[in-house]
Amino acid sequence: MARISLKEVDKYGTSGNDYFHLSNDKDTANIRMLIRSMDELEIYAVHYVDAVSDNGNKYQRKVECLEPQGQECPLCKADNYQAVKIFIPVIHEGIVKIWERGKTFIPKITSNFKRYAEKDSGLMSREFEVQRNGEKGSTDTTYELFVLEKDDFNFDESDFEYPKIEGELVDVVSSEEMLKLVDGEQVQTTAKKPSKKIVVKKRTKKDNIETF
Ligand SMILES: [Zn+2]
Repeated sequence: MARISLKEVDKYGTSGNDYFHLSNDKDTANIRMLIRSMDELEIYAVHYVDAVSDNGNKYQRKVECLEPQGQECPLCKADNYQAVKIFIPVIHEGIVKIWERGKTFIPKITSNFKRYAEKDSGLMSREFEVQRNGEKGSTDTTYELFVLEKDDFNFDESDFEYPKIEGELVDVVSSEEMLKLVDGEQVQTTAKKPSKKIVVKKRTKKDNIETF
């Protein structure tokens, strides 16, 4: 039986981008969602805060909202929009990437999970074709998932580290620091660009040949 293992390889450069996205209307791609159980879903309430990087580029930081932890959140109080985001690890073209979607995508995951999840591997037991519906830059873009046949993908946890979301893709900021953000000051970021690129070993033809 062929076993595909996930193996960590080289490091990302500064331009490394491990987010999965489709750019244009009707673009499609095949992905495998690394979701074994619904408990694993990485869902966060976040705020977007304007920031400037070390090299002077403007960007938006994602900062974790404090409300779900039972604390008063200065950014909520300042009417900064609170967005719910789900971060889905996927394998796309042999590389593990993060697919970031909004709250409305969560029911698509749960309904597919009910239909297609396998006992141990969850949704990893098959690939899905994803199609983008929405022009480039459109704010009401949606994504459709089309299930593909179950295959013999075999996941070995020891070969793979899930990308860390909290503290890396989403900033964790204290209440005091948030007050500074509300005042337009910059605070130290916890978020770093993930430095790991994980590549899935290609299945070789030889692996699939049965010997008698
Ligand atoms: Zn908040």
